[in-house]
Amino acid sequence: MIVLKFGGTSVQGPEMIDRALDIAVSRMDRAPVLVSSAMAKVTDALVKATQTAVSGDGAGAAKAAHDIIGRHITVAKDFLSGKNLEDAIGKIEDMRRALLALLKGLALLRECSARSSDAVLAFGELLSTTLIAARAKQRGYKAEFVDSRVFMRTDDGFSSAAPDMKAIAGLAKQKLKPKPGKLIVCQGFIGSTEEGVTTTLGRGGSDYSATIIGAALRAEAVEIWTDVSGILTTDPRLIPGAATIPRMSYAGAAELAYFGAKVMHPSSIQPAVEKGIPVWVKNTKAPEEPGTVLIPVAEGTGPRAIAFKKNITLINVVSSRMLNAYGFLSRMFAVFEKHKTPVDLIATSEVSVSMTVESSASLREIVRDLQEFAGVEVSKNQAILCLVGKNLWEERGFFVRVFSALEGIPLKMISLGASKINLSLALAEEHCDQAVKLLHREFFEQAATQPQDSPR
Ligand code: ASP
Ligand code: MG
Repeated sequence: MIVLKFGGTSVQGPEMIDRALDIAVSRMDRAPVLVSSAMAKVTDALVKATQTAVSGDGAGAAKAAHDIIGRHITVAKDFLSGKNLEDAIGKIEDMRRALLALLKGLALLRECSARSSDAVLAFGELLSTTLIAARAKQRGYKAEFVDSRVFMRTDDGFSSAAPDMKAIAGLAKQKLKPKPGKLIVCQGFIGSTEEGVTTTLGRGGSDYSATIIGAALRAEAVEIWTDVSGILTTDPRLIPGAATIPRMSYAGAAELAYFGAKVMHPSSIQPAVEKGIPVWVKNTKAPEEPGTVLIPVAEGTGPRAIAFKKNITLINVVSSRMLNAYGFLSRMFAVFEKHKTPVDLIATSEVSVSMTVESSASLREIVRDLQEFAGVEVSKNQAILCLVGKNLWEERGFFVRVFSALEGIPLKMISLGASKINLSLALAEEHCDQAVKLLHREFFEQAATQPQDSPR
């Protein structure tokens, strides 16, 4: 069987839902399970409706609910007719009543627990999948709507509930019986506790739902259908010629995720990683494009992508006390822990440590605390540039190519990942774009003309 997950923009209206269905039914012989997000912006609208209710504005919250429901009714009327339309409208009207009642309760109490919020947010996915399943039937396909809460068992950590993989594996086998010729339609993002209370996996959780289902049913593949054609060699806003990376390891994708390659969040593919299930990232608007497949181990060697992040602060800590001493690093990191600031890149020598941090909210306090035991230098407006690939420094001439391409650009720090999948550099923000262009040219634009293994 195969899992196909469609994001909000991929199901945002009748035309997109039809595209999504075209894709899903083209995999009918592979026993497809379609997992959908709420239509674009619906979850945000539900969050707002909740806030409006909590502020005591019951009428405003009700209006927001009517708007959300109205959007789905419009789509239903656009592409359904006869009994399919009647059934769908019936279900949507039931949801309208339930949603209005919930919001009214929140407005009266002027309070919303995470548990209540999950109950409200779940309507987004329930509404979108009601339309998708109805439309599939309208088009003559054998389709089955399944409420994911019957198998997506979670703990009661409302708003970011943790799935109970073992229970889900059992329940999914009972409740979802994928088979060729039938399309199963279910919701991402939502789940339920053992007692049957609605939960959510956290914002953006539908990808996670898809890989959980894939792992539970041992899918041959999970396909994430979104609005980009996979993961690119670099940011196309900077380099219009950036190309899609055809195959990449899970680990490489995780490195890129930090840099805002927002395509896949590492934690959301973890269930697929554990079972070695390939995860495809594909474009609903251009399904013929191959996209990117994430696999356990990438083939070959060499760089696959260049990522970068600006607005970074570089902190240098220097202390002669570090020499031959122990405990220094732990004391230093305790400062970052105290101020809840993640440290991203690190390079150390015997007497100095260079680090980068992203958020400088508590920078002043961090510096003050560090200065109690070491000299501290801070440079703002820095950038991190990262080459991600496979066995980078096993590739002959790799470092020579990197540093000769970057000749003339002052680098502040170099950090090699122990897994040989990334080389990260810190440099002044003003040099970042140029450095990315030079490296992209060196590794991705002339690759065909440059003999990769000739000594240089
Ligand atoms: N609809 C949810 C959200 O917007 C979940 C998802 O789209 O993945 O956060
Ligand atoms: Mg989303």
